[in-house]
Amino acid sequence: MLPEKEYSYEAGFLVVLTAPSGAGKTTIREGILKSHPEIFYSISATTRPKREDEIEGRDYFFVSQDRFVEMIENDEMIEWAKVHDHYYGTPKNFIKENIRKGSIIIMDIDVQGGVNIKKRFPDAVFIFVLPPSFEELGERLIERGTDTMETIKLRVENARKEIGLMYNYNYIIVNDDINQAILETESIIIAEKCCVSRNVDFYKEYLK
Ligand code: 5GP
Repeated sequence: MLPEKEYSYEAGFLVVLTAPSGAGKTTIREGILKSHPEIFYSISATTRPKREDEIEGRDYFFVSQDRFVEMIENDEMIEWAKVHDHYYGTPKNFIKENIRKGSIIIMDIDVQGGVNIKKRFPDAVFIFVLPPSFEELGERLIERGTDTMETIKLRVENARKEIGLMYNYNYIIVNDDINQAILETESIIIAEKCCVSRNVDFYKEYLK
């Protein structure tokens, strides 16, 4: 007998992609979505200012601090966190509806956010992406050119702390080659899709 859960994992499932910022999880997520149009991306809300190459409603819902607080008070978020001085949160409805419909949803959140999601969605797939080294992480953030040196220092310091939470996750991917990292992530999702425990309804129907 499968235990009762808040959301049935026999329908769809959630893939939680987590990494210290700069480890490459956004590129991995984009690679997966490009070749898997059937997988949906959970768009977060944030109070962080929009970067030049970002689009409202594609990368984030950019909201004011007042609106963010209102969303928390209305219980519209599954989880939220203050990351590097800005608020980020995951709107609830989109995820609930799509999992029920049987879809795979991928989300890309900070490490502590991933741990919080685990409390609500224990059957989600938790993937931790590691940079090859802390030095490489710092270099990548400098190359990205979107943060000040002070922010970069803070992000690398945070990364050292965040790696201590890795043991809450199911899978680890070291991103020293982006194509390999995408392939490994894709392989994990495909294997999870074939899990017996995620296909109980299908087998019941099959054996009728
Ligand atoms: P960035 O500002 O670089 O887009 O993101 C900063 C950090 O916030 C990243 O680690 C990113 O994954 C995280 N983040 C993005 N969306 C969410 C969310 O909905 N919840 C939480 N907890 N973190 C998020």
